[in-house]
Amino acid sequence: MSNIIFGPLLSRRFGKSLGIDLSPYKKQCNFDCLYCELKPAKTVDMYDDVISVADIISALQDALVQHKDIDVITITANGEPTLYPYLDELIDNINSIKGDMTTLILSNGSTIGDPKVREALMKFDMVKLSLDCATDKCLKKLDRAHKGISIADIMQGMLEFKTQYKKPLIVEVLLVKSINDSLEHIKALNKFLTTLNPTRVDIGTIDRPPAYKVEPLSSEELLNIASHFDPSLPVYIIHRKSSEVRASPYSDNEILATLANRPLSEDDVNILFDEKTKDRLKILLETKKVKIFKIYGVTFYILA
Ligand code: SF4
Repeated sequence: MSNIIFGPLLSRRFGKSLGIDLSPYKKQCNFDCLYCELKPAKTVDMYDDVISVADIISALQDALVQHKDIDVITITANGEPTLYPYLDELIDNINSIKGDMTTLILSNGSTIGDPKVREALMKFDMVKLSLDCATDKCLKKLDRAHKGISIADIMQGMLEFKTQYKKPLIVEVLLVKSINDSLEHIKALNKFLTTLNPTRVDIGTIDRPPAYKVEPLSSEELLNIASHFDPSLPVYIIHRKSSEVRASPYSDNEILATLANRPLSEDDVNILFDEKTKDRLKILLETKKVKIFKIYGVTFYILA
């Protein structure tokens, strides 16, 4: 039963989190992404190995006795958590014991077209949906989605969910070299995301050994791609552990021009700006030319 709970983990994006794995004994996913950290596996559209809600709640209660300082209870899986058949009942149970902790689900977004899934996700305090692809061709090639899953259904489901869900909705885009990183594809993703208007867009690349032979983007490439998203979208770059970008000096005007192009996260600032530039940024903040805002754990700098 102990495999059900993992952590606590400290995440810059979400805070101190205790994880619940809804598929602790094998990968059960309707995607078989090229970049998956788990071994390749045949896709499924339902779990055949199902743990009970009672077992999950009992494991969670035990863990919460040991860990008193948890910010977030994160529902995830070795696979796709929304395929868990009792998700709605589970979140009701978690909500009845969670106190002031936040609940978060990390989904690949594939089932958001299903009204029953949307109903269960409405009960979470925060939802993160992945969206790597703007086309079916990419969905087939990169996410290797189970038969019957289409981008049109995913996008329509996300739009419907967003009209009802007033809590933080994060969309994560994972970029893989030469597969979903073309300018044309980024423009298509940007077009949809600008319409969806999620609370935050997190973009990242492969950072752990992938299931198949695919390559990550460099931090420089991620920064360049981030600049092609609409400035109205708070784009948080999940920088690779070994970022190869060297901090450089920026003049006041260069700082302002960069921020006019897109908001920069604290991590971006630390990677891009040398110490003198950070001092300049501080002065721009004091003189109210720049301001900061926080989106669920992430600090962004924007033009005032
Ligand atoms: S959705 Fe997640 S678990 Fe499923 S294959 Fe992709 S990366 Fe792996």
